[in-house]
Amino acid sequence: MQVLRIGIDDTDSPRGMCTTYVGAVLEKRLIDMGLEKIEHSHLIRLNPNCPFKTRGNAAVSLHFKASNDMVEQAIDTAVKTVEEFYEKGFDETQPGIVIYRSEEVPSEWRSFALNAVRKMVEFDDAKKLAESYGAQLFMFNGGRGIIGALAAIACPLDKVTYEAIAYRVKHNWGTVRRVDKASVELLHRSGLTFDSYDPETGEVRITPHTPCPVLAGVRAKTAEDALKGLSMVKFFEDIELVTVYATNQATDMHLVETTIADIKPFSNVIVKGRVSSIPWTIPGGHVFFELSDGSAHIICAAYRPTGRLRWLTSLLRPGDVVRVMGGVKPKVQGNTLNIEKLEVIEVAEYSRVRPPKCPICMKRMDSAGSGKGYRCRRCRSRLLHGEKTVERRPLKPGIYEVAVSARRHLSKPLTI
Ligand code: ZN
Repeated sequence: MQVLRIGIDDTDSPRGMCTTYVGAVLEKRLIDMGLEKIEHSHLIRLNPNCPFKTRGNAAVSLHFKASNDMVEQAIDTAVKTVEEFYEKGFDETQPGIVIYRSEEVPSEWRSFALNAVRKMVEFDDAKKLAESYGAQLFMFNGGRGIIGALAAIACPLDKVTYEAIAYRVKHNWGTVRRVDKASVELLHRSGLTFDSYDPETGEVRITPHTPCPVLAGVRAKTAEDALKGLSMVKFFEDIELVTVYATNQATDMHLVETTIADIKPFSNVIVKGRVSSIPWTIPGGHVFFELSDGSAHIICAAYRPTGRLRWLTSLLRPGDVVRVMGGVKPKVQGNTLNIEKLEVIEVAEYSRVRPPKCPICMKRMDSAGSGKGYRCRRCRSRLLHGEKTVERRPLKPGIYEVAVSARRHLSKPLTI
């Protein structure tokens, strides 16, 4: 007997398919051949900021035990299954398979996997690293998918969540998913699962909106709860296949503490600093502010879909101490940190200066121009200094997150 680990990535396109489906079909085929599944298959979300990502940026790995005479046949089945299902005709769809026959996963691979979740990694590095430990590689259409395939085999799941996924029969692919919304609300209220439903918007979150084979995915902290949760949902269409993946979703694995000066584009960071500007809003309702930590400063953004977080962000003032978590995108104004979570550590006493009242007329004075103080329109008196008033803000220390519907797969909800 030997352990056979199979990593797969990059089989989908914006038009369809899903690497988790290819993994689920292959898993079933290997079980039907008599191979023994030694653990749940892994669904690994890679760097959500990667500019090459396909949709959710998910790679999968399968972990089996096979008798020596079955190994070649199993590998052949893996290659044929990927060949059969991957989305053809897209330059950007570059499937890769990594096969590794070993009980132990090299620690160098684990570091590589964490990097693939947190920042940008290179194809050549993945290829060299896989080959140096004797892995077998299969590449299609360029094969950039071996990056994710290797990461999916090696990614440590010390913190783990589970997703039970039901797949649709093929003739329903691309049509509207028929699911009973009331049953999803009940599931949400059961507390067995997380991110099933957005109570802020009333949106069902277990069904994707893409033409892919996924009917619904239910997330939970244990495999049992994920499956039980899925069974609570009423569907008005047939299910082809169900499987449970162990995942790095909702673990915050992508976030790494750093200083602003060390921030790289397309990375995912946690930075602590002081707010150094009054927040500003641009058309579309997106809110920005500048954060400084002594090493440098960076613009932080709360986009419109982030919900209540956007309003909280607009309450920040210079001097507030915060910790910001999120992904970094290069923009025309420089690196911009898109907020996933905002921890307000200290709310500063922020005062605004406004024109003083005239000591003679008791009416509010007008500005006499920049740096020239204030003057009274009636009696012409002048005063040099304005009136300082401490701004009252409904902002309390605490940790705040984006709306459920804006949450990234890797982001850990505050409720779990
Ligand atoms: Zn006056």
